[in-house]
Amino acid sequence: MDLALTPEQEAIRDNFARFCNEQIKPRAEAMDEAEEFPRELFGMVSELGFFEMRYPEEDGGVDAGIIACCLGIEEICRGSLSLGAVCQMQGLMGTYFLQRLGSDELKDRLFRPALAGEKVGTICMTEPGAGSNLFGMRTRAEERDGGWVLNGQKMWITSAPVADFFTVFAKVGDPEGKDIGIFLVERDNPGLEVGRSIRKLGVRASITSEVALDDCRVESGHVLGEPGEGLGYLRGILDEIRIVTAAMAVGGARGALEESLAYAKDRVQFGRPISKYQAIRFKFAEMATELEVARQMTYYAAARSEADLPRTKEAAMAKMFASEAAFRVCDQAARIMAAYGYAMEYPIQRYLRDIRFTLIGGGTSEMMKMIIAKEMGT
Ligand SMILES: Cc1cc2nc3c(=O)[nH]c(=O)nc-3n(C[C@H](O)[C@H](O)[C@H](O)COP(=O)(O)OP(=O)(O)OC[C@H]3O[C@@H](n4cnc5c(N)ncnc54)[C@H](O)[C@@H]3O)c2cc1C
Repeated sequence: MDLALTPEQEAIRDNFARFCNEQIKPRAEAMDEAEEFPRELFGMVSELGFFEMRYPEEDGGVDAGIIACCLGIEEICRGSLSLGAVCQMQGLMGTYFLQRLGSDELKDRLFRPALAGEKVGTICMTEPGAGSNLFGMRTRAEERDGGWVLNGQKMWITSAPVADFFTVFAKVGDPEGKDIGIFLVERDNPGLEVGRSIRKLGVRASITSEVALDDCRVESGHVLGEPGEGLGYLRGILDEIRIVTAAMAVGGARGALEESLAYAKDRVQFGRPISKYQAIRFKFAEMATELEVARQMTYYAAARSEADLPRTKEAAMAKMFASEAAFRVCDQAARIMAAYGYAMEYPIQRYLRDIRFTLIGGGTSEMMKMIIAKEMGT
């Protein structure tokens, strides 16, 4: 490890690395096949303190910082990107607005149990007709009789089939405007219905589904922050989401690289292990170099975030480069394993399928380019 980590950060990395090798890797294939919420491993991740990492001590967190968060998720994703996607949602977006804007009552009842892995939270922004363009959302919130009434349809909601609470983004005021409100909706709230699960190519143990809001009445105590100011609140976490997604990509690609390296040392063709052929060795050299650049960019952006320096451009660059590089690394790993990279009983196909998620989650590469160019003043 070449990054200058504190002893605490090193301990976190080592803990999660051990957890990955001993607990995640042996279960990763079965988890993917089952396409179910990984309840047992989710509990173990919670015991390791991952969900508490980025939150302040007064709210039950440990304030370990974004670098520690990246180290943890990188190791989780080295074993399973599905589990990483579930944990990222729980440890960041799914709980962030509740911690930042929720009442003490909501925090005691939902946030603290979520840190302990006893309640599951998620975020509802995307809709069938609104993905990259958040302002295209059609979900509306109307003030009525001292509370709010939500109507709309959300899509691709991570962990929704098992979630206890949903942070819902909805337009307030002019439907064509940019005023967005954030509402905390509990699972048993009348008018909230979790729809069909969406079957996916990858991260299959991170279950996703539609969420319908049909005259869903939300009490005023469940309004998070000022209605209309949602975009401003969202800006407070977007960079972190991108940095952590970059760390997830690095972790997934490391997993694929490890598998293919072990295979190449073992696989004999024309009388020698294929790892001795220059064509294969050069692939490894290129994969490792791409990964190293991705890691350095990720932790550089994380360090800027931790030091509270401007990092929007760096976070978008890290997210774009790391996810694209990770996809190339997984592809090369599969080529090295040839037919065995195509076989369902070897893990490499899973890494190749899963890594695509990092190209989408946190915003696509096209969106990252738009942010980088904007930050450059174009
Ligand atoms: C596994 C998974 C889990 C998810 N979990 C959640 C969740 O929990 N909560 C949630 O709210 N959302 C979630 N999402 C949704 C995710 O945030 C969106 O998929 C993402 O924002 C992209 O939106 P879209 O898929 O509708 O693509 P679109 O926005 O329709 O984009 C389609 C293509 O057009 C490109 N494009 C769009 N606009 C432009 C432009 N102006 N210029 C150039 N190119 C453009 C995009 O880059 C992309 O290539 C999840 C998605 C996945 C796959």
